[in-house]
Amino acid sequence: RIIFFFAVFVKMANTKVPEVRDITRIERIGAHSHIRGLGLDDALEPRQVSQGMVGQLASRRAAGLILEMIKDGHIAGRAVLIAGQPGTGKTAIAMGIAQSLGPDTPFTALAGSEIFSLEMSKTEALSQAFRKAIGVRINFLSISFKMIESLSKEKVQAGDVITIDKATGKISKLGRSFTRARDYDAMGAQTQFVQCPEGELQKRKEVVHTVSLHEIDVINSRTQGFLALFSGDTGEIKSEVREQINAKVSEWREEGKAEIIPGVLFIDEVHMLDIECFSFLNRALESDLSPVLIMATNRGITRIRGTNYQSPHGIPIDMLDRLLIIATSPYTEKETRQILKIRCEEEDVELSEEAHTVLTRIGQETSLRYAIQLISTAGLVCRKRRGTEVQVEDIKRVYSLFLDESRSSQYMKEYQDSFLF
Ligand code: ATP
Repeated sequence: RIIFFFAVFVKMANTKVPEVRDITRIERIGAHSHIRGLGLDDALEPRQVSQGMVGQLASRRAAGLILEMIKDGHIAGRAVLIAGQPGTGKTAIAMGIAQSLGPDTPFTALAGSEIFSLEMSKTEALSQAFRKAIGVRINFLSISFKMIESLSKEKVQAGDVITIDKATGKISKLGRSFTRARDYDAMGAQTQFVQCPEGELQKRKEVVHTVSLHEIDVINSRTQGFLALFSGDTGEIKSEVREQINAKVSEWREEGKAEIIPGVLFIDEVHMLDIECFSFLNRALESDLSPVLIMATNRGITRIRGTNYQSPHGIPIDMLDRLLIIATSPYTEKETRQILKIRCEEEDVELSEEAHTVLTRIGQETSLRYAIQLISTAGLVCRKRRGTEVQVEDIKRVYSLFLDESRSSQYMKEYQDSFLF
């Protein structure tokens, strides 16, 4: 029998936070953090620069129509393929679609080659990816520290995890950061915070929290479920567990306790998938609990892995039949410049006019992604010499320190005899 339990994160509200000076902000900036949508107007026409998106007008227009189909529920059983050269914004467009669907919409990205690992079968890896892209919005409770302390007779602080017993309303503290796995094991099926008795928690307030179906699977499939979520070592999940969770989630849905949010699953380098993966995807797309599947490739006619047949993009014909295909094209110099400018703003790096021009040329001649990577490294070099604005010298320095793909392969060719393969 599955033990369903949830933890409530103690909210910072109603607490005194000790004053801290010199807070070091550590920000991890994702490569696409500047993308906030597709940048379309009400008539679904793309603006040249909007919501972090630049150019690529035809594909953004097409993506806008797909977005409408998703919103109207007309995408079921179908998938999207974005075809274009590396660095032409395929991931950015998929991300733009996810962003336009709302802030809670899960976005999961993986590369076709990633699913071939020794730890789990390819179809299990795909199932997990599918379920990571489906959100379950659950009503949570937020309770003041004082109230918890008076009920549990324990000191609690921000970040502590507590549970509430459904039957008795008893609150207990579990510890911090999910480290005490055996506590979870000891909890009974009773433990559910959503139904704690009226009256006892006067000041309770409902808040909404979104978790993915995959997270629910992992938490309920093994004792140290939470730990597995952090380490990423989730192992294979039994199909019975998934079935029970699907049943439970639809029960919550009917009772109005939870809502399903289909997100976006983005599979890059889709030509790396083999025939078995494609037949899995074909089947998975038919299910009610399916996210929007967006795939990307930079290949033309190529062999379908696992067969001796060739096909467009290495995708079997029955899968191709389900696809809406969008093409992306290379950027002009002006567009490359604009994208680099947006990235500099995002990463808080000031660039001199000349440095911007040099970086744009690098972006055009090597790849946009390589040029984007030079921004933070050049920013660091500039800070080290106590400068405030990245100059051409800083760009030159990082350009010589870090190789782009063609210089790296050139280097490998020249010195291949010295490498052991
Ligand atoms: P690959 O084939 O190598 O996976 P891709 O086509 O998916 O590449 P992206 O990763 O989307 O390309 O683009 C490279 C970088 O440029 C990313 O940081 C992305 O956010 C940014 N970018 C690409 N196109 C645009 C655009 N039209 N507007 C703003 N940023 C963009």
